[in-house]
Amino acid sequence: MRVIDHFISGRAGLPAARFGDVFDPNSGAVQARVELGDAAVLDGAVQAALKAQPGWAATNPQRRARVMFNFKALVEARIDELAHLLSSEHGKVIADSKGDIQRGLEVIEFCCGIPHVLKGEYTQGAGPGIDVYSMRQPIGIGAGITPFNFPGMIPLWMCGPAIATGNAFIIKPSERDPSLPNVLAELFLEAGLPAGICQVVHGDKEMVDAILDHPAIGAVSFVGSSEIAHYVYRRGVAAGKRVQAMGGAKNHGIVMPDADLDQVVHDLSGAAFGSAGERCMALPVVVPVGEKTAIALREKLIPAMAALRVGVSTDADAHYGPVVTAAHKARIESWIQTGVDEGAELVVDGRGFTLQGHEAGFFIGPTLFDHVTTEMEAYKEEIFGPVLQMVRAPDFETALRLPSEHQYGNGVAIFTRNGHAAREFAARVNVGMVGINVPIPVPVAYHSFGGWKRSAFGDTNQHGMEGVKFWTKVKTVTQRWPDGGANDLAGDGANSFVIPTMG
Ligand code: NAD
Repeated sequence: MRVIDHFISGRAGLPAARFGDVFDPNSGAVQARVELGDAAVLDGAVQAALKAQPGWAATNPQRRARVMFNFKALVEARIDELAHLLSSEHGKVIADSKGDIQRGLEVIEFCCGIPHVLKGEYTQGAGPGIDVYSMRQPIGIGAGITPFNFPGMIPLWMCGPAIATGNAFIIKPSERDPSLPNVLAELFLEAGLPAGICQVVHGDKEMVDAILDHPAIGAVSFVGSSEIAHYVYRRGVAAGKRVQAMGGAKNHGIVMPDADLDQVVHDLSGAAFGSAGERCMALPVVVPVGEKTAIALREKLIPAMAALRVGVSTDADAHYGPVVTAAHKARIESWIQTGVDEGAELVVDGRGFTLQGHEAGFFIGPTLFDHVTTEMEAYKEEIFGPVLQMVRAPDFETALRLPSEHQYGNGVAIFTRNGHAAREFAARVNVGMVGINVPIPVPVAYHSFGGWKRSAFGDTNQHGMEGVKFWTKVKTVTQRWPDGGANDLAGDGANSFVIPTMG
């Protein structure tokens, strides 16, 4: 059986004592085994990074940018093959896997302009004969710990800015779909990146703890579920590292009475069920405002859901494929049961869905609940599957309060034709990313991505200028070049025992 190895300094790493199963979600069969590394494996990668990083940091930013240009071209040339690899482990349909990789490449495109964004600040004449300038320098060695649901985009969110700013970077991908980051690291080498600057270590909690505890790793970026994000944040910060840790989500879509309901149903179908709902920016909660809106929306949603095609990830006509593992399928189905037990109305039940010829695949049909209320656990927690919950709101203020008071605050959307309502909503809602008639408001690469509340720990977002800030530290230089003449501070009678001021 295929073994997925670490990728350390351009070579396979030390042999592992432990392995994890990697499934084919379409068939339910184990298709490969991934090495589960430990602190010794990580240390091998760190030693290679320590050797390579000073030279890379000293490489001028334009040359570092050229590697980004080369890398983008190499990935684009192989995008079909890479999308198939991604789909074969994740289960999302091929077109969606291409989108996953493409969104990551957009961050690489931003990194092609790294010489421009690394220009520091400069003040001439901040005092007599004094100039002040600042520069951004790399942290040294950074690490990224990523979730299963975007195995292309999320590693690239992190490694693009980390590498372009002069760091060495170590990725620890999800052990459920670990193959793609190995290929990306190989392509970086082919693009001209020195060995040791982009490495991949595989593993589970043991490897994550080793990363958090390793004294040579200065910054850790994490994306995954909230409980683990919070743990990673606390442990990493306690070890003196810079940490950003993105967590789970429960995004709401508010539907105002004046919204175009056909457009809403179209957008909602993709946002709630696309990628089997395994997106942190999915819309698993819909909030129609007013009973008339709720009745009309429900009437349109039911046939739209019936028309959704669930299929294997290579089925070009399928809207979505299987979920990632049997364990995740069981977890989603148990949340559906909780919803039923708590008294929500199960309008469409996706449990028991089977695909002919793929009976052991991890498929779940689209599921709809109505009359969901805020005290239900199934509402409070993230389900991360193809399950849409309708929470009816009598008015705008109630609808605004729902996402604002929810424990998660990743994304939210409002559907309306009323500019004033949309503007009020965007200004007042207690959530980090807002869509106005945009169902999945993932910001473009040159803006930044990050939620609020339990959806993110730490204060710096992913990619854009926030990413550049996360992976660099600012150094500020105050300089004076005495000429031995009248302009010298030392000769102008200034009292050197008093803190100098510019007044
Ligand atoms: P997960 O939390 O199970 O795993 C994320 C990473 O943590 C993996 O690399 C995994 O190996 C590691 N990990 C797992 N258990 C651990 C433990 N006990 N201690 C230390 N590390 C551990 O998340 P997942 O199921 O892979 O991904 C889905 C989750 O990620 C969802 O909650 C989703 O909302 C979230 N997510 C958030 C964002 C965001 O930007 N906010 C983006 C994508 C996904």
